[in-house]
Amino acid sequence: MRYFGRVAGVAIGLLVLLCASAPAWGSGGHHKTPKRVLIVVLDQFRPDYVDTFDMRNVKALMRDGVDFENAYLGHMASETVITHNVITSGQLPRDMGWADEVYRDSDDVLGEGPDSMWISGSLTQEQFDKLIAHAGYAKLADYLHAKRPGTKFITAGQKNYAVFSANGPTGDIAVTFSSRNADCDGDGVNNWRGPTGLNVPSYLSAPSCGRFYVDSATSNSYGTATTSPAWMYPLDGNRFAPGFDPAHRGGDVWTTDAGMAMMEREPWSGMLLTLGSIDKASHMWGGITDVGRYPAGSPEEQAHLRFIAKTADEQVGRLVRKLRDLGQLDETLIVLTTDHAGQPATRHHGVNAAGRSDNNWYYGETENGSFLAPSPSLAPLIATGNVRFTYQDSAIRTWLTDTSTAAKKSAAKVMATLPSVIATYRLDGRRYRLAEANLKAMSPRELVYWVLHGQEIVDTMAAPYAADVVGLLRDDTSYGVAGDHGGAQRPVQEIPIVFAGAGAGSRDSSYPLRSVDILPTILRAMGIRARPGLDGKGVELP
Ligand SMILES: [Zn+2]
Ligand SMILES: [Zn+2]
Repeated sequence: MRYFGRVAGVAIGLLVLLCASAPAWGSGGHHKTPKRVLIVVLDQFRPDYVDTFDMRNVKALMRDGVDFENAYLGHMASETVITHNVITSGQLPRDMGWADEVYRDSDDVLGEGPDSMWISGSLTQEQFDKLIAHAGYAKLADYLHAKRPGTKFITAGQKNYAVFSANGPTGDIAVTFSSRNADCDGDGVNNWRGPTGLNVPSYLSAPSCGRFYVDSATSNSYGTATTSPAWMYPLDGNRFAPGFDPAHRGGDVWTTDAGMAMMEREPWSGMLLTLGSIDKASHMWGGITDVGRYPAGSPEEQAHLRFIAKTADEQVGRLVRKLRDLGQLDETLIVLTTDHAGQPATRHHGVNAAGRSDNNWYYGETENGSFLAPSPSLAPLIATGNVRFTYQDSAIRTWLTDTSTAAKKSAAKVMATLPSVIATYRLDGRRYRLAEANLKAMSPRELVYWVLHGQEIVDTMAAPYAADVVGLLRDDTSYGVAGDHGGAQRPVQEIPIVFAGAGAGSRDSSYPLRSVDILPTILRAMGIRARPGLDGKGVELP
């Protein structure tokens, strides 16, 4: 009896241990072919944020699912408006119709004349749809529709260009914030945002001034409009901060609530939720260097990364719980990733003044926005008289007026003299040619990463619509704001990619998966045949 008791005790103990360590979706997860895929993009997320900001729900996904420990973004421009389409198309920027924050309409797709210039982040849903259709490839929505007719692909997030580009011509529902067009607090000013997009369900949009309307007054900056360096790119109410109004929470809570409401009601087979707040806080303060602690419940707390990252992590936990509550967890593949990492601008070559963000990033005139107050650090480049447009954050990309080879060579030579430039390249058809290399400007670590990945990453955007001349920069350098991305540096390129839930096991992988490989890997896990012409390479989940 005593012996049996001991054995039973040990057995029960083992059982408890097994249950505690089993993935939340049960042991059958590995072999089950998923019916749905949920992609969660934490904008400007770095792997080291997980421990620095105690992101336990993300950590649990990494532990229970397949964490690609050597994942990297693998393309330029490392920007929101690029990667949301890379993830949902499996195409590299050079094949997907646009490659950067700025777009030269070489084929006159938008109808304002060949080579007209555009800010891609300000394109409409219809304009993105035209670019995607012109390049002629399938999106995740097309694959899911073919596999499971009648189901929906849904996108939601605070940034409209992330949502529009991910949704594309064939997504079914796209939900993002409107402009400030509602007055829900009766102060006589239209400073609230509500849900807008494609086929926005009435349970989100009605009643007017309901839960999905949030106060986005620029006067409510949580102090960031008057505090350096955040003042370059300050908060506008609760578009990115959750805020203190329990009936109208903004930021990542807004996107998550919208996503969960649609999970409950829609016959969905794919959903991409893009949580934009980590990006905002990281741009304002520098990202990984913003480790301060602020009083609980204070406005300062809402404006800084620790609280914002913790809030994003809570949303990941809420999404997993929601799937479980709906009985969908066992049949859903979850992909957690980002659209680029980020780095503090320890070397900042923009102008650190209130509201400077756009004028640091952009210089030139386009069809949908003009920026004519460049930073002094760009003066030698602009003095060439051949700059049609230049965009600079953690890399410099310049479109020229005279695009002859000689003009590109001379612009690349001048660009190489700008602060913290490590190498310059000129566009030559389907590739970039190295023009100048400032080997002495690089640390040994920067040199190694540049040799391994510099040419590879720059080439991913070689297309007629991309920049004529590109300048790569040192690590922890930006011409934009206090924390930034856009280039080919290791701190911007190293990203988390995690597959969890149905179709994924719990063994981590050392395979260096790129962002462009996500779509074919999803297709493989879901038993969907990839169409020819994908740039990405699908891997079998361990
Ligand atoms: Zn982004
Ligand atoms: Zn960003």
